[in-house]
Amino acid sequence: MDRQVIIARNIRARREELRLTQKDVAERSSLSVAGYRKIESGKVEEPRMATLTSIAVSLNLPLMTLFEEPRSLVSVRFRAQKKVRVRQRIIESMARWLEDYEYLEDVLDDHRPFKLAQVASQVSTYHGDDSKPVYAAKLAREAMELEEDEPILDVVGLLEWIGIKVRMMKYTNDGFFGLSGWGSSYNSPGVIVCDNNSISTERKIFSAVHEMGHLLLHRDEYDISHENEIKEHEDEANSFASHFLMPDSRFQEKWRELSGKSAYDRVMIIKRVFDVSYKTILMRLVEHGAVDYAEAQKYIYNNHRIKENRKLGSKTEPYAIGREYPFIARRLDNLVRQAVEGDLITVSRGAEILGMSNTDMRQVMQEWNWALAG
Ligand SMILES: [Zn+2]
Repeated sequence: MDRQVIIARNIRARREELRLTQKDVAERSSLSVAGYRKIESGKVEEPRMATLTSIAVSLNLPLMTLFEEPRSLVSVRFRAQKKVRVRQRIIESMARWLEDYEYLEDVLDDHRPFKLAQVASQVSTYHGDDSKPVYAAKLAREAMELEEDEPILDVVGLLEWIGIKVRMMKYTNDGFFGLSGWGSSYNSPGVIVCDNNSISTERKIFSAVHEMGHLLLHRDEYDISHENEIKEHEDEANSFASHFLMPDSRFQEKWRELSGKSAYDRVMIIKRVFDVSYKTILMRLVEHGAVDYAEAQKYIYNNHRIKENRKLGSKTEPYAIGREYPFIARRLDNLVRQAVEGDLITVSRGAEILGMSNTDMRQVMQEWNWALAG
């Protein structure tokens, strides 16, 4: 790769990570927007060192990292229905994130092995009455020490606990909900969930578990060159997520318990028991042969209009989970804090790992001191 292209890709990836516009960076670097844009698109053959230095400072990056070949992750699964324009850059940022994460685990000697590795191998040789995704969901819950009737109150915390690295990212395009991959140094699994405000919490929870399903069911399918979704695999990951979040015996119990209620009320009450979308409930009813999906969807639309006196949008989640659900990753932040406080990494390296500016990082560090007495 040409040097100017490498520089261009690095500064663009970093700028997007910090969610800055080209104008922001140009201003901070005392460049014209046109001048900055030329460098970012790789059109300047030999950018001046002084210019690159000021860009690096604006992006809170050590100058040397501008010249590093972008890291690529071979073991990633990123498939989307539509063509995702920024695919390559998302993959690069995932590679960097997993690499930094594994590096921190190394310097702190705090690795967390993947607790479901055993489950994955058990599932691959399973030939029983259940489908593989349903069996995998059952084994995964057991490995996580979840009781059959135990709702999942904090899916991200649970994933981190069993050794899956989780990251929330906001993206400008809506072409996908999540992706997953394996770190290059220690083969640790990582999941990125699209955290756009337009996506319901139910959907984010489901996406995180859907990716866990891929990690368990499709280990051999992690290949960066595959861009298109395979319907069968997507269905399997969806089935895994549905049965992991809502074990069927428990669902049936709830459904019967509410037998005197209207179907609309039953769907809306039960979706809140399991923190799933109403569509997940409809899909389960379809699985049981109870309804036809299109008719059930129409029924929900009609009843919602009557009960709520307004139309239900096709992407709207009725009676949605609010901000009270703790959809947050915390392990990486904790590792960064330990490494910074132990002088194992610099503050600006910590900021870089967390995708923050130095100023934001210093603010966060001050808040670290809100320690509990005793
Ligand atoms: Zn998928």
